[in-house]
Amino acid sequence: MNIQELIGEIRLQPTWKSGGQRAPHKALTILFALGRALQGHRIISYRVAEPELKNLLDGFGPPRDLQHPEYPVWLLRQFRGAPTGFWQLEGDTSGVEDASKNPRPAEMREHISFGLSESAWRVICEHSNNARVLAMLLAAEIVPATLHQSLLDAVGIDMPTDWSPFDAASAAPDAPLLLVGRKRVSSARFQRDPAFSRLVRDAYRSECAVCSIAPKLGDELFGLEAAHIRWVNHEGPDIISNGLCLCRMHHVGFDKGAMKVDEQMRVRVSSRLDHSRPSDEMFRRFEGKEIRLPQNSTDNPHQTMLEWHWSEVFKP
Ligand SMILES: [Zn+2]
Repeated sequence: MNIQELIGEIRLQPTWKSGGQRAPHKALTILFALGRALQGHRIISYRVAEPELKNLLDGFGPPRDLQHPEYPVWLLRQFRGAPTGFWQLEGDTSGVEDASKNPRPAEMREHISFGLSESAWRVICEHSNNARVLAMLLAAEIVPATLHQSLLDAVGIDMPTDWSPFDAASAAPDAPLLLVGRKRVSSARFQRDPAFSRLVRDAYRSECAVCSIAPKLGDELFGLEAAHIRWVNHEGPDIISNGLCLCRMHHVGFDKGAMKVDEQMRVRVSSRLDHSRPSDEMFRRFEGKEIRLPQNSTDNPHQTMLEWHWSEVFKP
């Protein structure tokens, strides 16, 4: 197996969404195993991994009351009935499935260990850039760029801040071709409408819609970004009504689900946000306040885009 074949194997998995809903569970589970493999642990006990997987799904998956990490761990073992070449389960699998073919968590805890297959592990060990290319591919498909670094940190994959997939060209010659060849990744990361950021910033008079900060150094604005309400990697369009001009911190907070904009265009803050004075000052003091709307009301955040953010991103 080489990096190209490994990516091909992983691509056989269904996409990381289902209808309009985010379904990043398998991708997050692969990232978890990838991080562990890089630290020298190819096979991990499900009992040990379960709490960490729950945290990962909680932090980077859609808001759901209960997380079920047993599903991705169990389902990745095969694709359409045939064993996958990159995933491995160890232990007695005979009693894991119930009558409806759903995995039983208690049996998984008792008997199952999982991780990358030996052939996939060898690809990862061959060159550290192989893991980075794969990690970036997965991250770019399931979360926006604001969260890439924290996701990779969470799974223990070291990604130098100046690293770009294109730098990997010399080290992993196959990978950049795949990056370019993957339309979904390309459109998400590399080919989105370059005018979008400028249009959104102009529509919002170059101020954060939440805190109205507009810092300038000389004549140059900095720290303002155009957020997608419905993420680009989840079919969010590059139109102003799918955008919000936000400062860096409010952009990350919005993408992380720490806040949302409600139907009356008011800021709502997650009840899960910590109660510290900085968090109060940065987020909670805007609770219930109307955002600074675009100059033209037809550019206001669109209800259907907001609804996607409420159900798939915001942590109530
Ligand atoms: Zn702000």
